[in-house]
Amino acid sequence: RIAIRNLSKYYGNYKALDNVSLTIEPGTVTVILGPSGSGKSTLLRTINHLERVDEGFIQIDGDYVGYRRKGNTLYELKERAILKQRTQVGYVFQNFNLFPHMTVLDNIIEAPIVHRLYSRKQAIAQAYALLDTVGLRDKAQAWPRHLSGGQQQRIAIARALALNPKVMLFDEPTSALDPELVGEVLEVIKKLARSGVTMVVVTHEIGFARQVADRVVFMVEGRIVESGSAAQVLERPQHSRTQQFLDKVL
Ligand code: ATP
Ligand code: MG
Repeated sequence: RIAIRNLSKYYGNYKALDNVSLTIEPGTVTVILGPSGSGKSTLLRTINHLERVDEGFIQIDGDYVGYRRKGNTLYELKERAILKQRTQVGYVFQNFNLFPHMTVLDNIIEAPIVHRLYSRKQAIAQAYALLDTVGLRDKAQAWPRHLSGGQQQRIAIARALALNPKVMLFDEPTSALDPELVGEVLEVIKKLARSGVTMVVVTHEIGFARQVADRVVFMVEGRIVESGSAAQVLERPQHSRTQQFLDKVL
């Protein structure tokens, strides 16, 4: 489980995260909604220690993200240990940043080989299994630039899964796609949800949230203003800001 506790984060004087607490249970899908600038990406980035926090902490299965505890003090981990810790967290961005100079297969096997999770042979076998999951086995030898945006994003998902992460983070995974390609990417994410992958998804796709979210979290100005089941937050929002937001995006 991921425990996010009393997280605050400043950029200079600007408070991008304001006392955020959230628990993500294994096998659940958490969807984060909120207007632009509300801190959604910042929150995801802290889960990977891509951003340091100023107050509070995050634990993944009891381990502090970015820190180790000695007595009552937290000491920041060394770069190496941070990189190792990041392998527990799969990250899929808006702009499917595949390595352009590598084939699809090499994109997927790179990290598990570098981190010595698998032998090359095992990594390739696993990569084909992941390509089956995202429906792109026939693209193993293709170059990223020869794939559609939707296909590239499905490969980015396969690549993120290759390290067997404890959680998958998606930051607006479909917002850079042409409308007709959104569905195929959401289908892959839904399939992962059904197979029990723990996920945190930032998206404006309310229909998707309604179908797969175990929990919907609504953020405004760095704070969680509302959190609950999809039915609660999307059908019976308690906060006027949530209502306004839903009126706009629906
Ligand atoms: P969007 O929906 O547009 O992606 P968001 O909810 O993901 O927005 P964040 O990207 O987390 O919002 O940004 C939260 C706030 O922090 C914004 O006001 C943003 O301008 C500010 N911010 C983000 N990154 C930085 C940075 N590196 N330096 C300074 N300010 C930043
Ligand atoms: Mg963002």
